[in-house]
Amino acid sequence: MGKDRYRRQTLVKEFGLKGQKLLSSKHAILIGGGGLGSNSANLLIRMGIGSITIIDYDTIDKTNLHRTSVFSENDIGKYKASVLKEKLQSVNTDVQVQGIIKKVTLKNIDSLLTAADVIVDGTDNIPLRLLINKKSIQHKIPWVYAGVYETVGMVMAILPKKTACFHCITQNIPILKTKEIPVLGSLPATIAAIQCNETIKILLGKQPAGLLIYDVWNQCFDTLGIKRNPCCPICGKK
Ligand SMILES: [Zn+2]
Repeated sequence: MGKDRYRRQTLVKEFGLKGQKLLSSKHAILIGGGGLGSNSANLLIRMGIGSITIIDYDTIDKTNLHRTSVFSENDIGKYKASVLKEKLQSVNTDVQVQGIIKKVTLKNIDSLLTAADVIVDGTDNIPLRLLINKKSIQHKIPWVYAGVYETVGMVMAILPKKTACFHCITQNIPILKTKEIPVLGSLPATIAAIQCNETIKILLGKQPAGLLIYDVWNQCFDTLGIKRNPCCPICGKK
């Protein structure tokens, strides 16, 4: 473990050398390497997560560039998972970075989640998040949801059978059929940083914050305590 690299971080009382050592033993699976995922992977790798697997089937498009700090114009047309693996591995060679070019489906998700300590959400659609949520509860792997829309972002860390699950909060929300999600360019980096914080905290055994909502335009930051729905078909008792 690079002592100098993390010196300023290990000086943080709440984190310390103990936290750094623990973080370096953890494995994160990141699903989706776009605006949110690329920024989250960047932070987790710089902070010293032990290993990270980045799964994405898509290529980089010019329209991706306004909301990520990792991709450049030279990367257009290349696979996101490959570019993230290459660029972020060179940021921190102490971290094992793997890039997998694959679409996550009901058929392959179980094998992709093997040995994960946490799942980090970089997806952009509710059906895939509901699948991740179901598998998170089934395999007892915590996951950290993050979403952005226009000027509003949300983050919620979900601990299986301990906190409310994603289904508890979304079962009454209609699924948007928008092909292109409108988003302010700076928002994914902001939300990814909060998502990274929540990921680190739960990996170190801290309690998650609840549902965090940030509205850029109205300068509003809120945390909602969400209770588990006892009748939830995914995490409820029935
Ligand atoms: Zn639930």
